[in-house]
Amino acid sequence: MEPLIYLDNNATTPLDPAVVAEMLPFLTELYGNPSSAYGFGKKIAEAVEQARSRVAALLGCDAREIIFTSCGTEANNAAINSALSLDPDRQHVVTTKVEHSSITKHCEALAKRGHEITWLGVDETGQVDLAELERAIRPDTAIVSTMWANNETGVLFPIQKIAEICHRKKTIFHTDAIQAVGKIPISLAGSHLNFLSLSGHKLHCPKGVGALYVSRRTRFTPFLIGGGQEHGKRGGTENVASIVALGKAAELAGAAMEEENTSVRALRDRFENGVLETIADTHINGDREHRLPNTSSIAFDEIESEAVLMLLDNAGICCSAGSACTAGSLHPSHVLKAMGFSNDRARGSLRFSFSRLNTETEVARALHTLPRVISKLREMSTLAA
Ligand code: PLP
Repeated sequence: MEPLIYLDNNATTPLDPAVVAEMLPFLTELYGNPSSAYGFGKKIAEAVEQARSRVAALLGCDAREIIFTSCGTEANNAAINSALSLDPDRQHVVTTKVEHSSITKHCEALAKRGHEITWLGVDETGQVDLAELERAIRPDTAIVSTMWANNETGVLFPIQKIAEICHRKKTIFHTDAIQAVGKIPISLAGSHLNFLSLSGHKLHCPKGVGALYVSRRTRFTPFLIGGGQEHGKRGGTENVASIVALGKAAELAGAAMEEENTSVRALRDRFENGVLETIADTHINGDREHRLPNTSSIAFDEIESEAVLMLLDNAGICCSAGSACTAGSLHPSHVLKAMGFSNDRARGSLRFSFSRLNTETEVARALHTLPRVISKLREMSTLAA
């Protein structure tokens, strides 16, 4: 059996061994509670603070602006709930049709509770119209929330420009940067962002830890109320080992940023160009210029992506049909639908996402296997017709 080829790094990432090494002592001998007043507890609290500084360094912000959360979903929910809690006369939310379900489903639930939500569309490249976004902001808008990088297509929104618009219109701005952090350089110092969410498991860190950046200019109402942890901004005894892991993963991501934008991009491009050259009737979904360096969303004409997934799985290759959360369901991706693509194009699309732990040999094997899988399926559908 050949080793697994993991080309689904936007779903989650393999742990970096250096991250595991850093967190292990906090699962064994360093088990103290960071809130305890004695030295053993203080040592643990210092490790949490070091992790906070490392995450802040990756984002170019102050450590006091980082709150650790249980995941990216919690960070996204907390940002919106905080903004809605500030002023009863500002209860309108602006977001887009291509967000992750941790935003879309939350906004749908808010709509059922009477909040008005404006859903901005995107064009066929996956981009928002900034003039439309500006027009959508009203005096009663509590928050604008748009993702930085799309998890399915990798398309990047012009976040600093959106932040400037929101600042000018005196509205809070949150970005779900869960796919962007660690893949593109981010510098929050001097920016107009109020909130930014990130998630550890997209950065070679374990699942179940994330962080919310809350700019020091922004009032914040805690989502989880309890023992006053996280400087009173999130109750609950800290998940110390995972927080330490996130700090190390952030440090490593900062050091590998150059690699992410050169060698990971080169792997992705080699794969993508190889697919376009060897398989007829394929199309790249989304803005190829303003895109994450690791993501490729490819549509194959006359193909059901679920069938490709199964055959690639048999060959030991992991990728995804749309986002991980929609994988396994037959609903065409809401992102590709919002870009104006037909159900057939959306159902024929696959996402391949790379990381610094992928190799050229893996790309070569995937490029060897995929054309065979696609031609086999196309032949079968011709015979069935
Ligand atoms: N937002 C985006 C863009 C994502 O890709 C994901 C995970 O797939 C999330 C939010 C949710 O993050 P978590 O799994 O840490 O809750």
